[in-house]
Amino acid sequence: MEIIDGKEVAQALKKQIAAQVATMVGAGERAPHLVAILVGDDGASQTYVDHKEKMSAEVGFRSTVLRLSGDTSQAELLDLIAKLNRDTEVDGFIVQLPLPRHIDEQKVIEAIDPSKDVDGFHPENVGRMVMGLPSFVSATPDGILQLLKYYNIPTAGKHCVVIGRSNIVGRPIANLLSQKGWDCTVTMCHSRTRNLADVVRSGDIVIAALGRAEFVTADMIKPGAVVIDVGITRVPAPETKSGFRLKGDVKFDEVAPLCSYITPVPGGVGPMTIISLMRNTLLAKRLFGFFDRE
Ligand code: NAD
Repeated sequence: MEIIDGKEVAQALKKQIAAQVATMVGAGERAPHLVAILVGDDGASQTYVDHKEKMSAEVGFRSTVLRLSGDTSQAELLDLIAKLNRDTEVDGFIVQLPLPRHIDEQKVIEAIDPSKDVDGFHPENVGRMVMGLPSFVSATPDGILQLLKYYNIPTAGKHCVVIGRSNIVGRPIANLLSQKGWDCTVTMCHSRTRNLADVVRSGDIVIAALGRAEFVTADMIKPGAVVIDVGITRVPAPETKSGFRLKGDVKFDEVAPLCSYITPVPGGVGPMTIISLMRNTLLAKRLFGFFDRE
């Protein structure tokens, strides 16, 4: 059994990105520029945006965080997005979700120019991804693919069972792994799936993305399976400083001994997502950034 070390993979990819940025800048090009829009003062969102800003600096990007008050109107936000769409010095931007209730998230996502949509949430990017065309793949599914690639985990012809059908994790990863190059036979499970345990037990690769702490137990896992745990749930832990502990969707201690590979929580998929955002921003600069050069 091997524990997939997401921190190690993230570190390795981060170094690659930083080296490519250094080469780019050394050749006289401007560095990729990532902008994050944060609306309101949601604590978790602030932390995510801070991490993105810090990581951007570490790989040599220019980064800008636009902090807007929680009562910003939808029209104001859409105006700002239109401005960023036109700004030739911005390669990619993200609008940190969730947004305050009075703003329609889907409208906001669809207002972003797909060529700058480094979160990969715009329907054009999702559609292109589903068709196997070049696109910005959203962070969590891309992070999972990078982990499988780094560890050279064979996927062709394997039965991959994905638990969860959300637009940000389950659905895209199920689609991607069914595509040429990955070549899995994929089953996507959800809250209405019958005999879930039996289905999961038939998986050579199990991707748990349902958001229920320690839901996947040893009796649901085929010996030798690869288990990717996407779930992050805070469970109360009064003995810790923060008062909570992060749990995955997999009961790690009993499942791990059965697996060929498994991701821990934290330290598995989590560290990869921010790297995927950096990968997409670098790609955005590469693909579209040359238009603004003299
Ligand atoms: P979601 O709530 O949008 O979707 C959960 C999915 O699981 C749904 O499609 C639902 O049908 C399915 N589901 C729920 N209960 C089920 C059950 N009992 N049996 C089978 N299927 C069931 O969640 P999400 O946004 O996809 O996130 C899933 C988990 O992954 C959460 O814990 C979230 O915090 C975590 N997450 C982690 C990262 C990361 O960076 N590691 C990124 C995104 C999400």
